[in-house]
Amino acid sequence: MLSRDDFFAALMHQSMQLPAGKKMGLILARIQRLGEINIIMDSELIDAAQARIERSLRPDDRVAKIGACDFIIFLADLKNINHAALAANSLVRGFQEPLVVSSGPVQATIAMGVSVFPDHGDEPEILCKHAEIAFGRAIHSSDRYAIYDSHEEKIKILYPEFQEAINNNRLEVYLQPFWDLRRKKVIGAESLARWKSPIHGFVSPDQFIPFAEQTGLIGSLTRWSVNATLYHCSELKQAGFDLSFGINLSARVFHEQGIVEQILGALNIFDVPATNLVLEVTESAIMSDLKLSARVLESLRDKGVRISIDDFGCGYSSFEYLKQFPATELKIDKSFVFDITRSARAAQLVRSMIDLAHHLDIVAIAEGVEDQETADLLTEMDCDFAQGYFYSRPKPAEQFVAEMMNL
Ligand code: C2E
Ligand code: CA
Ligand code: CA
Repeated sequence: MLSRDDFFAALMHQSMQLPAGKKMGLILARIQRLGEINIIMDSELIDAAQARIERSLRPDDRVAKIGACDFIIFLADLKNINHAALAANSLVRGFQEPLVVSSGPVQATIAMGVSVFPDHGDEPEILCKHAEIAFGRAIHSSDRYAIYDSHEEKIKILYPEFQEAINNNRLEVYLQPFWDLRRKKVIGAESLARWKSPIHGFVSPDQFIPFAEQTGLIGSLTRWSVNATLYHCSELKQAGFDLSFGINLSARVFHEQGIVEQILGALNIFDVPATNLVLEVTESAIMSDLKLSARVLESLRDKGVRISIDDFGCGYSSFEYLKQFPATELKIDKSFVFDITRSARAAQLVRSMIDLAHHLDIVAIAEGVEDQETADLLTEMDCDFAQGYFYSRPKPAEQFVAEMMNL
């Protein structure tokens, strides 16, 4: 039997050999007799449970016992998070039939918390912690399993700490390439903020961006992001690269005094053409004040700045606003893109969104491309650009710049 440490060592080893775009899953599972809590199961029953788990897994998956009735399961080579859900479902089904031991059949139940490498962490300890958090939800769920979601881990960000990080340039710019599906090359990158807090360690933007929005720090964060991103853009421009950079704008930013001037001023200082800047705005940010957002973005677009509707498809069903809105691109939300090779309906929706963009004479970009099949299908659908782990995970701006220069 593998110890927890051996298991982690094997997991690390596997993760280092994983080809780009591939994932692995980690499941923490607890088996119990139906209707009984915290019962210590005898070894015959626990062996039967382990055999039942193994029966539901694929040959390369691994399971180890780590407690009286707890197991850790390693799912090798996942294509995407949905495959971890399929594996968990198959384990739940596996326990629908009773386990058979010498005293007779015993009905047992399984509960599982699932985390996925690299989405939910790069290290076994973090993956395990996240699987444990998901497990807390799984035991109350009729599905009997739960997949980790970064939103469920609430940390308390301290205002002075975060403000200091923004003001002293302690956030980092990560860049994730935009890929031109026709010309088959990198044509730019989206700027994504990263923060390693001395108190909390790595904090996800899904936590610090809403915090910045609620506390009014989003204005300073956006100024930081514009300057830090254009700095790298200008470095690459001086080296002869003509690349576009996407910057995310929150709804709150439209209320900031002088936002248009600040962005145009930064383009001027860094000597970056306005056409190399793409401002990404979600449908919900647009709709929170359509008149104001359209006015601000229109004055920027008039100067050549491009405007992308981010997370397209998951906000508002009415396309009415598109008539008045100065968008130059539609960025199709990853939740649709993830499914196009498996679901005909998702594929049809994405095809319609690409056609819609083209009818409006604007560019279609798909985010969340995680494998070759999805990239091929998007190309076949005549999508213009793509972005996702298949091409590259977001990486430190310095690394992105160095890699571009060495091409
Ligand atoms: P977003 O604008 O939708 O950014 C895309 C998110 O999807 C990023 O998460 C990125 O890492 C992730 N992603 C990219 N490709 C894939 C893929 O193939 N598969 C999967 N599963 N995910 C992929 P991230 O960096 O955690 O950012 C989360 C959100 O935080 C962003 O969503 C954006 O709304 C916000 N954000 C990040 N940086 C900034 C910033 O500087 N300013 C503002 N206002 N918002 C930001
Ligand atoms: Ca975005
Ligand atoms: Ca997005």
